[in-house]
Parts: sequence; C-alpha cells; structure tokens
Amino acid sequence: MEMFGQNVFNQSVMREKLPKAVFKNLKKTIDEGLPLDPSIADVVAAAMKEWAVERGATHFTHWFQPMTGITAEKHDAFLSPTDSGALLEFSGKELVKGEPDASSFPSGGLRATFEARGYTAWDCTSPAFLREEADVVTLCIPTAFCSYTGEALDKKVPLLRSMEALSAQAVRVLKLFGNTDVTRVTSTVGAEQEYFLVDKSFYLQRPDLMMAGRTLFGAMSSKGQEMEDHYFGSIKERVLSYMKEVNEELWKLGVTAKTQHNEVAPGQFEIAPIFENTNIATDHNQMVMEVLKRVALRHDMVCLLHEKPFAGVNGSGKHNNWSMSSNDGQNLLEPGHTPHENAQFLTFLMATIKAVDTYAGLLRCSCANAGNDHRLGANEAPPAIISVFLGEQLADIIDQIVKGVAKSSSMSGHMDIGVSTLPSLPKDATDRNRTSPFAFTGNKFEFRMLGSSFSISGPNIIINTIIAQSLKEIADALENSTNFDADLDKLLQEIAKKHQRIIFNGNNYSDEWVQEAAKRGLPNIPSTPDALKELVSKEAVEVFAAHNVFNEKEVHARYEIMVEQYVKTLNIEALTMIDMANHSIIPTAIEYATTVAASINAVTAVSTKLDVSTQKELLEELSDKLAAMSANTKALEKALEEAMNIADAEKQAAAFRANVFAKMLELRTTGDALEKIIAAKYWPLPTYREMLFVL
Ligand code: ADP
Ligand code: MG
Repeated sequence: MEMFGQNVFNQSVMREKLPKAVFKNLKKTIDEGLPLDPSIADVVAAAMKEWAVERGATHFTHWFQPMTGITAEKHDAFLSPTDSGALLEFSGKELVKGEPDASSFPSGGLRATFEARGYTAWDCTSPAFLREEADVVTLCIPTAFCSYTGEALDKKVPLLRSMEALSAQAVRVLKLFGNTDVTRVTSTVGAEQEYFLVDKSFYLQRPDLMMAGRTLFGAMSSKGQEMEDHYFGSIKERVLSYMKEVNEELWKLGVTAKTQHNEVAPGQFEIAPIFENTNIATDHNQMVMEVLKRVALRHDMVCLLHEKPFAGVNGSGKHNNWSMSSNDGQNLLEPGHTPHENAQFLTFLMATIKAVDTYAGLLRCSCANAGNDHRLGANEAPPAIISVFLGEQLADIIDQIVKGVAKSSSMSGHMDIGVSTLPSLPKDATDRNRTSPFAFTGNKFEFRMLGSSFSISGPNIIINTIIAQSLKEIADALENSTNFDADLDKLLQEIAKKHQRIIFNGNNYSDEWVQEAAKRGLPNIPSTPDALKELVSKEAVEVFAAHNVFNEKEVHARYEIMVEQYVKTLNIEALTMIDMANHSIIPTAIEYATTVAASINAVTAVSTKLDVSTQKELLEELSDKLAAMSANTKALEKALEEAMNIADAEKQAAAFRANVFAKMLELRTTGDALEKIIAAKYWPLPTYREMLFVL
C-alpha cells in the first residue's frame, strides 16, 4: 500500500502540497474537463519541484508521444545560477510549455525542417511522475506535442480530442434517458500486454533480434507450443523474480498491474492492469512497455514486444478492453440482469455495433503495421476481418429487436459440476469467444486485433470517434422526438436490421467464416499497405473532421507517416537478412562444406574401400542449398533495390509487400533448411531451442 503511487504527483499529494484554492481549481480541470487556469501554473510547478527534489530528482522532462509510437523526453536540470551560486527552479512557464526541436520526429510533412518548432503542452489530466533509473531520478510531465500551427504531432492530442467528442455525444444520448445530471462520459481501457523474454546472451548473438526485433531466420525446434503446457503453467523462478520487480516499479508509478501469467508460446508472458480512463491507460501502457524492457536487462534478459518474434509459434498482441463510464458512476455497457428492458444499455450497444460495422475498415487500419501482418489472419489472432461477438443472450435480443421489440432475456442459472463438495457456480449469461476481434465480454468490448508493440492511442482514437458519430446520429434522430419510446424502438430496429451482418458468434479462425464474411460484404484486408488506405477514405476524413479529432491535413500526414514506417521496417528487415546471409549463413555453409569435402578426401586417402556415401550425400545437399541461398539472397537484393527506387510512397509500400516480403520468405526457407543440416558447432546463431526454452 505504501509503494502504490509513491512516485506519482497524484491528487492526494496535490491536496497536501497545494493551497486549497489552487487544488480545487486544478481538480476542476482534471475531473470535469474545464479549461486549465494558467494563473495557477507557477504554484503547481513550485509544489511539483519541491516534491520531486525531496525524492532526489535533479531534472525534469516533458514526456510526450510522437508518431514513432514510443515516448520521447529531453531532460532539463532544475538549476538556475545566481550571484552566490545556484538555485533549484521550476517555473509555471516551464511546466506548461516546452519547445523541443521537432525536426527529427515524424511529421508527415506537417512541418518543414526549416520551421522545426514543436511545442509540448502540459496534460494535467495525466499525473506527473518520477522515473528512477539507477540513481537518477527524473520528474516526468505528461505532455501533448503539436506544431507551431497547432496541428497534432503526437498520439495524445487526437486521443484527448476523441475523448471529448465521445463525451459530448454520449451526454446528449444520456439526457434522452433522463440522466440530466451527467456532464461527462469517459472512455475506459484496460490493456492486456503480451511479451516474450529471451536470455540476453542469445539476443546479442542475433542481428535480427537486435535490428528488427524478430527472428528473420530460425528453424523451428522439435517442440513448440503443441503440448499446451506453457499457457498458465507455473511461472519459472527467474521470470517470477522479474515479474515481481516489474510489478513493484509499476505500482510505484501508480500503474495497477494486476494479472500475470505464462502465455501460449514458450517464452511468452502477459501482464494486465486494471482499467482506467483511456488517456491515463495509454500513458500507463507506454510505461508498462518501458518498464518491461528496462527491468528485463537487469535480469540479463531482453523483453521482445514485436508482434511476431518467432515464426511457428504464437505472436504477441494487446487486448484493448473498452467501455464508457459517466461521471455519475454508470458503466454504459453494463447490461444488468434483464438487458432487454435496459433501453439505455441497448442504445449504447447498438451505437457500438453500428459504428463497428460502418467503420470496420478504419478499425482494421488502426491495427495495421508490418509486425501485425504476421498475426492477423494467421490462426492465432483474429483474422483481418472485423466482426462483433455478442454471445447468445445479446445476440438473441438483437434477433428479437430485428423482428419487433425485445421481450425477454435468456437466463443462465447455475453450473452443476457433479461433485457435492464443490461449490455450485453461477453461470455467465454467455460463454466467451476467444476468436472474435471485437468481443462483448460482460460489460465492455474487447478489441483483440492490436499488436503488442502498439501505442493503444491509435485504436482508441478510432473507437472513440466512430462511436461518437453513431451516438450523434442517434441523438440527432431522437432529441426532438415527441414519442420517445416508440421512436427509440423504431430506431434500434433500423440499426439492428442494417448492421446485424457484423455480428458473428462462431469461430473466426475458420475458412468458412472468410467465405461467409465475403458474402455479407464485410471487408477483409490482409496487408498493411491496403489497410492504411482506409485512414484517408472519404468517410474517414469526414468523421474525423466532424468531431474535430483530425483535420484533413493531419489525417494525410498520419497516413504518410504510417506508410513510411511500413517501408522503413521492411527495408531494415531485408537489409538485416542480406547481412546475415552474406556475413554469417553463407560463409558457415561454405566452411562446413569444405570440412565435409576434406573428410571425403581424408577418408578415401586411407582406403578407397571405405564408405563415404554419407559425406557425399551431405555435401551434395549442402552445395545445392548453398547455391539456392546465394540465389535467393541476390533475388532479395534485387527486389529491395527495385522497391527502394520507387518514388511514390504508396506504390513503394505495395512493392515492398508484393515483392520484398515474398523474397524474404523464400530466403528464410533456404536459410532454415541449411540450419537443419549444418553441424551444431558450426551454426553461428542461437537456435529456437535456446531462445525459447532457456530462461
Ligand atoms: P481476459 O478474460 O480477457 O483474459 P480479464 O477479464 O482478466 O481478461 O481482464 C480484462 C481487462 O478488462 C482488465 O484489464 C480489466 O480491468 C478490464 N476491464 C474491466 N472492466 C472494464 C471496463 N468497464 N472498461 C474497460 N476495461 C475494463
Ligand atoms: Mg483478453
């Protein structure tokens, strides 16, 4: 209890350190979203500095989230020289505004390098915190990052905008149901984070892990995850002591790390916090990823957050559990015991279904990156098709709404396990469905398409915005109604009829679903370059503008950045493969072939009667595979060169996907075939067995 939040400048510290009036003033901004009063900045800054310095901080930093997807910081000392020496100072101005040089962050053309100004602005709704690294303590102030002209250059500004949009529309809808006291609705998120751990010594011997975060070569070990003995298995001591330290670091930072377990693949794990407001959950997920990586090094391990570090076993995702809660304490997606009677719940549910169906492409786009392309649709993660799982009870209610008005909710009762000493368990109204990309799980939706390395900001910007849009349409239709109940029934029926096609309760991993989804007209977008195009579709640009989340320039800038990131990622991967092929795999194969040839000569020299057929066969196989390896390396080099020469970014991304990616797969196949026949003592790279099973 003492540890939790000890490094956070939270409301209880503020209450203690700030004059009452200032605290009340700031709290209004934090809790009620009222404009920040600039006159309090000096007082807050002084209190923050005093608190931070007491705990050993010497520097402060504006902590922000540029479009790289990770966080950025520039440290400044509290130092200010005086006639007699130096003072520790931190002004309101320094708290509120920072001016990092923005020229080296991706901006998608929003800012030319010669006008490099970028500004960071204090986000008082996410608490400042202290980062302790070795004996260095730094005060980190969560900030938004924008250009000289006010355009968002980061992942926080649009997220906050989308939360405001959702709040405004949800409050309108709540008013229709007589909730006149509600002034704010907040979207809430709990992000389950998956990751791999590998021993650091192996990591350092793998150029692919170091450069690309995933193995680009590597033959599958004799055992993978097929015994299903790792998932939820007892956690190894080394990993447990790592998790303990991760939890402690996170608790100090006020992150509610709650659940931890072994994941499906060997060497794979999960950590999940308790949900909180989406802005804070996003900042906290960034901290989770940072802490996972940092603490791993102390344990001589490396934490891999890539979506697919090891071909052949499960990749890592991030489940984004999402709901909305009003400032009078209601979870707007709580169905209650008799959901068919809960018109308000049904309205928010239908708004979500309508949004997901209307903007399925955008949701898919929000989960697109080069790493996630290895997962989506690969029998381990949801497919690249968006659908909604509701479960029997709610699906039945939707059926009733389609036919008329919902009159009943199917009930569930108790489970009988058949052993009198075991407790009788209350049965949930609906079973879970682990294959659905967008699943209703009791009182929230779980969006399961996100990749493990993602900032959760992007997907939540989209969810908030598209649901704000459907709530807006519902409010527009009903606000002037003179016969609310009848008009609501009619509207819900219309929505149910139109959007029922997005509901799918079956196995999303099956081939039948791919065909069925095509029949229903649902988009199936397997690759990143295609998925990204959804961001700049007419509908997308319109909905972002309608809710002031992105203006058209900002959307196009983001599109440009993401296309560029895709190309850069594949370029690094291809270059690393070529490097590994030329500098390590091919020379090793030559060396081994030479040894085998020498053995043939040596043995035959003793007596021509001795059987050297094994060596000869091996040499033949080695020579064939070596030639293939060399040819495939050259083919990749050529495809890469051609792709790099394409000037148009969109065409370039398509070429990377169609050609470079394909050649990489072929090269990997030959490399892995060589690994299987080359003697262990010659093989230069740590194997899957070592990387996945030695912890
Ligand atoms: P699973 O069953 O999917 O493995 P859990 O049920 O353990 O996951 O956790 C799911 C996550 O959902 C947790 O982070 C939890 O805090 C979060 N969650 C619960 N209620 C809400 C809510 N109303 N809004 C957002 N997230 C929520
Ligand atoms: Mg989950």
